[in-house]
Amino acid sequence: MKKGEKIYEGKAKILYSTEETDKLIQYFKDDATAFNAQKKGTIKEKGVLNNKISSRIFELLEKEGVKTHFIKSISDRDMLVKKVEIIPVEVVIRNVTAGSLSKRMGIDEGITLKEPILEFYYKSDELGDPMINEYHIKVFELANEKEMDIIKAVALKVNKFLVDFFNKNGIRLIDFKLEFGRYDGDVLLADEITPDGCRLWDKKSGEKMDKDRFRRDLGKIEEAYQEVYKRVIGN
Ligand code: ADP
Ligand code: UDP
Repeated sequence: MKKGEKIYEGKAKILYSTEETDKLIQYFKDDATAFNAQKKGTIKEKGVLNNKISSRIFELLEKEGVKTHFIKSISDRDMLVKKVEIIPVEVVIRNVTAGSLSKRMGIDEGITLKEPILEFYYKSDELGDPMINEYHIKVFELANEKEMDIIKAVALKVNKFLVDFFNKNGIRLIDFKLEFGRYDGDVLLADEITPDGCRLWDKKSGEKMDKDRFRRDLGKIEEAYQEVYKRVIGN
C-alpha cells in the first residue's frame, strides 16, 4: 500500500491517505509532548517501538473480539488502519490512583481502586481536553447513547484484558486513554495503545515505564519504552 498525501500531522503521529479511500497509513513519530504541548521533545526510536507495541496489542485485542481500526503494520513506523471518523471523546480508564485523579481527589498515587473508573474528556487541543460527563456528550451530540454503550463496554473489556496481559509480563496497568471512531455503521477502537497514553509501572520495583518519565524528567525514557516493547513482544 503506497503512501498518498499527508492529511493530518498531530503531536505524535502523521496520517497519510492511501489508494483506498477507507484506509489510512498512521506514521509514528519520535516527537513527544506533555502538558497540552507546552513541553516538547523527542524520544529516540519511540515511533518504531510504539508502532510495534500498538500493533501487537491491537492484534491481541482483535483475537479477543474487540473491533479495532488495525489492519497491519507495514513498516517500522507505519501502520495501515481503517479510516474512521474520530469521536471527539477521550476515554480514560483507571485502575490505580495517579496523575490528574490524585490531584483532583487529593489522594496519593498508587492506591488500587476497588473497581475501574471511566472518565471522559472532550478532545479539543484549544480547550486543553476538559473533563466532561455523559450529559455533555449527549446534549452536545458528541456521541449517541448507542455509541456510548459500545464505548463503555469495550473500554472495560479492553481494560480487563490489558490488566491481565501486562500483569503476566510484570507490569501494573495504572491507567490509560482510548479513542474510538465511526466506521461503516460501527464503532471501532482507534488511535494507539502505547506507553505514550498508558501509565505502566514495573510490578517489582514500582519504576515508571511510560511517558511520565518524560513528563516528570525522570531520565531513562528510551530504556523504559524498550523494556515495555520487550515484554509486550516476547509474549
Ligand atoms: P493529536 O491529534 O492529539 O496531536 P496524534 O499525533 O496521535 O494526536 O495524531 C493522530 C490523530 O489521528 C489523532 O487526532 C487521532 O484521533 C487520529 N486517528 C487515530 N486513528 C485514526 C483512524 N483510524 N482514522 C482517522 N483518524 C485517526
Ligand atoms: N492521557 C493521554 N492523553 C491525554 C490525557 C491523558 O494519553 O491527552 C493518558 C495518560 O497518559 C494517562 C491517563 O490518560 O495514562 C490519565 O491521564 P491523567 O488524566 O492522569 O492526566 P495527566 O496526569 O497525564 O495530565
